[in-house]
Amino acid sequence: MTERVLRCPYCVVGNEFMPMIALADGAFVCVKCGHLEIPGKDDLKCHCSRCVELRSLGFRRCG
Ligand SMILES: [Zn+2]
Ligand SMILES: [Zn+2]
Repeated sequence: MTERVLRCPYCVVGNEFMPMIALADGAFVCVKCGHLEIPGKDDLKCHCSRCVELRSLGFRRCG
């Protein structure tokens, strides 16, 4: 199994996106902005400030 690295779509470190930290339950979190992602759970409602802002603007994921 290849270890999967997710990167925060909002935070940039140097010239790349910030790698997210893997949690025990399979979720990944960005330590900088608090963005949360769970692979395979695209309907996850993240409560970080960026996601809340995007949702309030009416952005939605495809599907
Ligand atoms: Zn972030
Ligand atoms: Zn988020």
